[in-house]
Amino acid sequence: MSKFLISKYQNIEKYVPGEQPQNMESFIKLNTNESPYPPSPGVMKAISENEIFNLRLYSDPESTFLKQKLAALYDVNPDNLFLSNGSDDILNFIFMIFCGSEKEIMFPEISYGFYKVYAQLHEVRSLQVPLKKDFGINFIDYCNAGRNIIIANPNPPSGQTLSFEKIETIVSTNPDNLVVIDEAYVDFGTESVVPLIKKYPNLLVVQTFSKSRSMAGARLGFAVGDVQLIEDLHTIQYSTNPYNINRLTQSAACAAIDENDYYVDRCKEIAKTREFTIEELRKIGFYVVPSKANFIFIRHDRIDGEELYLKLKERKILIRHFSDENIRQFNRVTIGTRAQMNSFIQQVKDILEESEGNNNA
Ligand SMILES: *Cc1c(COP(=O)(O)O)cnc(C)c1O
Repeated sequence: MSKFLISKYQNIEKYVPGEQPQNMESFIKLNTNESPYPPSPGVMKAISENEIFNLRLYSDPESTFLKQKLAALYDVNPDNLFLSNGSDDILNFIFMIFCGSEKEIMFPEISYGFYKVYAQLHEVRSLQVPLKKDFGINFIDYCNAGRNIIIANPNPPSGQTLSFEKIETIVSTNPDNLVVIDEAYVDFGTESVVPLIKKYPNLLVVQTFSKSRSMAGARLGFAVGDVQLIEDLHTIQYSTNPYNINRLTQSAACAAIDENDYYVDRCKEIAKTREFTIEELRKIGFYVVPSKANFIFIRHDRIDGEELYLKLKERKILIRHFSDENIRQFNRVTIGTRAQMNSFIQQVKDILEESEGNNNA
């Protein structure tokens, strides 16, 4: 730490991203919920020589074309949309401008790790609500809450979901609080609440191109909500960095939306592979939390969570282990291709047999 860092930032506990090894070929990477599939063919073409030539120009700060396409796809108006450099960027703005030191926020105690980080960064008081034993969210906890709310649906790292009706009840019982639904994983099999933004001006839905649209490296997130909420977000974006979605990402994302069916099919494939993986793991004694996301949360009575993570890493398979006390026996595993999951299952079986052998020796 330098002597120049001001005191309010001196004790920030920063977010720890999953490992991104740079010698990627040698790893099966099931640790950061990326898609195992490449972007659609049109995206490859969109990053053309002409687009590269145009990199000398600033990007369109309004992302006009992209907003038009997204608006058509989600049946909203372009002015119901806010885009930014990854949905993390949007979440950061939300904690900064709708909470700050003036308004509390509540979210599940076990959820996306960034919520705690942003709360600390912006000095937001937060109420962290315990989950049910099966990692489900008890929606009653969030009705008439008296503070802002953020819920990821599906909720990581377990992948449990809340129904459309329960979310609507949370939103309708909190007219004076902002309710943010983080739908990073919605495309893998959950009903989106985007249609509710027309009825409730206190609802903001956040989505990303990182998971279901195979574009984690392009950095693009979007929020859908009432025009006034969107205007507030624009004001703060224009007060920091109006060009934070680069030209290549705007072109790539337009092409991706033109080929939406490609992504719908890939998401279905991933959901199928998820169900296959869950079944196989249960056969060999794993507890697997039901998931509607592109990841699963697993525990085995006969092997320590961290040990399984480390042994798989030795075998060039990366999964995500969290050291938080109440989930340290678990691992989160991203769903890859069927072939990747077959390798994963085989290696897990070998590891379990090996540790059995050691125990009996
Ligand atoms: C991955 C993830 C994000 C961040 O997505 P980016 O658009 O890549 O910044 C936000 N929320 C949740 C719940 C996530 O899992």
